[in-house]
Amino acid sequence: MSRPRPGDGRPLEAGERVVLIDGKRRRYLVTLADGGEFHSHAGFVPHALIIGSSEGATVRSTRGADYLVIRPTLEDFVVEMPRGAQVIYPKDLAPICMLADIGPGVRVFESGVGSGALSMTMLRWGASIVGYEIREDFANRARSNVRSFLGDDEAARYDVQIADSYAGIDPALGAFDRVVLDLPEPWQVVPHAATALRPGGILVAYTPSIVQAAQTREALARGGWIDPRTLEVLHRGWYVEGAAVRPDHRMVAHTGFLTTARWVGSAAQGSM
Ligand code: SAH
Repeated sequence: MSRPRPGDGRPLEAGERVVLIDGKRRRYLVTLADGGEFHSHAGFVPHALIIGSSEGATVRSTRGADYLVIRPTLEDFVVEMPRGAQVIYPKDLAPICMLADIGPGVRVFESGVGSGALSMTMLRWGASIVGYEIREDFANRARSNVRSFLGDDEAARYDVQIADSYAGIDPALGAFDRVVLDLPEPWQVVPHAATALRPGGILVAYTPSIVQAAQTREALARGGWIDPRTLEVLHRGWYVEGAAVRPDHRMVAHTGFLTTARWVGSAAQGSM
């Protein structure tokens, strides 16, 4: 099914997801179904009250609680979606797309695929992806997350194969513009990336530990790669309420490191 685009103003339909927001600003991700009910401490909301209404509608539960209804953003979805593996969070998803220079038509080799949070973000930005994932259950989860949230057009640009990227990238897949990695030993994929990337292509690796980042940098230092960089993204929310305007007391202090470099081809081997 082709999913409604953000801002397209269509009425809400059975089969699509909505976010319900209660009076305490708690958010609930709900898949609308004919005859469905959303249950909470305040009774339930029949989905029939939501289906056919528009984003911004308020619906009332059987015991009088009001919920605002909106469509989920990709950010809402990736933090709430069904997952097997740990996902990359929005804080890092957008910078990865910028570092990898993702855009319409860009051909990406991605490994591992996990639950598909990064895949969904790159597909939304227009990429075509071949993904290598060793676990079939994760591959299936990622495919179904892509199809159910993004829709058929994006799913047609998403080819997940059950394969081990440490063992190589099939040359029959042709040249890639980008290699984007989120797996335990990305340095094992660096030599394969060098054969899979076209000159000018970009590699980005997400690693929870700086030791992994350093080992990836060592592999990238063996020649043919330029502009190596490792960075982390810190995201500090602010509490803004009247005169009380200050940073949030809590923040996510660490997720992962982003390491990137550009492949300039085997002719440059040893010169960098
Ligand atoms: N970036 C993903 C999460 C990936 S978790 C997301 O945002 O949802 C890491 C994944 O790498 C796991 O699913 C794991 O099964 C896979 N993996 C680990 N080693 C691999 C290998 N050698 N080849 C392919 N996939 C691998």
